Amino acid sequence: MSGTRRRVALLATIVVGAAGAAGAVAAATSDAPGNSRAIKKLIDPKKPKNVILLVGDGMGDAEVTLAKYYGKGARGTLNMEKLPFTGSVTTWNLTPGPGPEYLPNYVPDSAPTGTAWSTGKKTIDARLSQGPSEEEAVPGSNEGYTTTFEIAKRRGMRVGNVTTSEYSDATPAAPSSHISQRRCQGPEDTRTSCPAESKGAGGLGSIVEQQIDHELDVNLGGGKARWEQTLDDGSGTVLDYAESKGFRVLDNAEDLAAVSSLRRGPILGLFNAGNLTTEYAPLIAAPTPGAGGPDVRCTDGNRPANEPSLPAMTAKAISLLERNNRKGFFLQVEGASIDKRDHASDVCGQIGETLAFDRAVGVALEYQEDNPETLVIVTADHAHTSQIVGAEADPPGFYATLQTVDGAPIRVSYGTGKTPPGQGHTGARIPVMAIGPQASNVLGARDQTDLFHTLIGRRG
Ligand SMILES: [Mg+2]
Ligand SMILES: [Zn+2]
Repeated sequence: MSGTRRRVALLATIVVGAAGAAGAVAAATSDAPGNSRAIKKLIDPKKPKNVILLVGDGMGDAEVTLAKYYGKGARGTLNMEKLPFTGSVTTWNLTPGPGPEYLPNYVPDSAPTGTAWSTGKKTIDARLSQGPSEEEAVPGSNEGYTTTFEIAKRRGMRVGNVTTSEYSDATPAAPSSHISQRRCQGPEDTRTSCPAESKGAGGLGSIVEQQIDHELDVNLGGGKARWEQTLDDGSGTVLDYAESKGFRVLDNAEDLAAVSSLRRGPILGLFNAGNLTTEYAPLIAAPTPGAGGPDVRCTDGNRPANEPSLPAMTAKAISLLERNNRKGFFLQVEGASIDKRDHASDVCGQIGETLAFDRAVGVALEYQEDNPETLVIVTADHAHTSQIVGAEADPPGFYATLQTVDGAPIRVSYGTGKTPPGQGHTGARIPVMAIGPQASNVLGARDQTDLFHTLIGRRG
């Protein structure tokens, strides 16, 4: 049996044997063998050559399960359910204060959570890879907040960063900038909200300027409008600055598909002025009698063809990063609008983005199967609002009903805000799933900061 085939067979054994994974419905009534030996063979203490981290923003267990039932059915399997090692992490962050001890804040935003896995350290809401302080508007210290991307670059690895949000949004910004407030995305934003950190004031500059200065190899997402802001010295826009540093700037899916190597410089693909368009058309939850119905399915095909899909961007990033590369690569991929549509009580938007994210996970798993020296980690940044409730439930807030691929009704409640666009994050633990060298480090109940140490490679 070849190495790859043996691994597939091992995985099949685990999947059949593990409760909650594919085939669990059948396995529960059969006399399937235990999985101890198969799991033991998958424990690999080597440092990985490549790391692919896939983050579903706001993708708690409720969001994962909802997308599975809607798109795959109760007996179906998401790609992210095929990773053999799973655990869960707490996502709390810090409350601003005088320090040096900071009270925990149990429901974080995406900036401190991105900081947690990117640096191994906690900080306050809105803050990116920078230490806490007494309030959001007062910068903290960048000391000790070295990021995964910075460590990978120092090791000579190639680095990629892919998202469906603005490229300067919190999740892609966490490993590629240090700034006190996530809103300081472009130089104009920074002159207004983070003046002491602007380049004009001798600081590191806005998020987009820092993203250029990080010299990442593959940069893909939305948010082009931020890059059209004027630099502090008035010499041009941020896009001009990127081009002066040798970046190849792209703005449509066709041009991205045509790129075949990084020989002519790093790639900066910005495919929308704001966030990328969602895969499914919106269906917004409503108060009683709710939105949708037991025969309603979501409408696919909402994303225009000139915007690449998340799986297409993931596949292109991997192929560019791995080509003629002995030192390995570090790639972060974000499905950003699971969170954004959850905030909007948009049940279809949220499900379509979760399923697209899962297809991106499938792309990473295919690569990992042929390149087993690759560690793949799939996780979220924080939990979110949506809950699967009884198909006849009459919850007090907003809800919607859809028909799953099983042909059964599923009802989803949005109960953290009084108006549909006002839903908020929640504080439950979130899932983490892994395969490859050191994947077993994610096992058990841990904190989000612990992921950093697995991402940069532990000893043994
Ligand atoms: Mg995000
Ligand atoms: Zn959010």
